[in-house]
Amino acid sequence: MPRNVTYTRKRKRRTGRIYVIFFYLICLTILICAVVNLQNRDFHKQYISQTTSEYKNNDKKDESNRTDTGKINIQEDWNLTLVNKWNPIQSENDIEVNELSNGEFVDKRIYPYLQKMFDEARNDGIYPIVASGYRTEQEQEEIYSKKIAAYKAEGLSDADAKREAELWVAVPGTSEHQLGLAVDINADGIHSVGTDVYRWLKKNAHLYGFILRYPAEKTDLTGVSYEPWHYRYVGIDAATEIYNKGICLEEYIVTRGK
Ligand SMILES: [Zn+2]
Repeated sequence: MPRNVTYTRKRKRRTGRIYVIFFYLICLTILICAVVNLQNRDFHKQYISQTTSEYKNNDKKDESNRTDTGKINIQEDWNLTLVNKWNPIQSENDIEVNELSNGEFVDKRIYPYLQKMFDEARNDGIYPIVASGYRTEQEQEEIYSKKIAAYKAEGLSDADAKREAELWVAVPGTSEHQLGLAVDINADGIHSVGTDVYRWLKKNAHLYGFILRYPAEKTDLTGVSYEPWHYRYVGIDAATEIYNKGICLEEYIVTRGK
């Protein structure tokens, strides 16, 4: 056998081995790539499921916030307490009040909303004051008696004086002022006049949770004459709905949830 032939065969064998090794290397590379890829995918999947669960948790947090909001809604029932001549106050024992700068009081839960409303009014160049806020049963009794006395002084009979007075002053036990949730708002008399304040309130009060409680066209339902100064806190949601629908609190309570 010529040497050249042997050499050629050896070379071919070596070349073949190189091909085999090269083949295995390629296979190994593919395998490594596959494993790494799989791990990455696992990691990615894990990451996604983590973020998803975080998201879900956040969602749950949102839901729990919503539950909190639900709780607030339940608490908001105090905001929707209906008091009128047909629905006297059941109990006024647990009212916590905040004192305003002029010595009037309001339920402390409505204080921040009232403050904000007044701040915004002043930003618009309107200067309101709380002429009357929370009243005790005794204070309401005094106002009521004084009003009757004033009509009697004008010459009205006892019955007429009483009837006339009750158009303007609630019988003790039936005034929203005893809830601490109602305020009579007037102008400061220096920078603003009453009509400006009433106009501003009528347009904006619902944004802070207050409603014009005794609209002119609802006296049959409220049992009270039109009072452009008397505002009642019911919460922003209820106030907005009442404002948008042009209804009064009595109508809102009856139709709520229907
Ligand atoms: Zn009032």
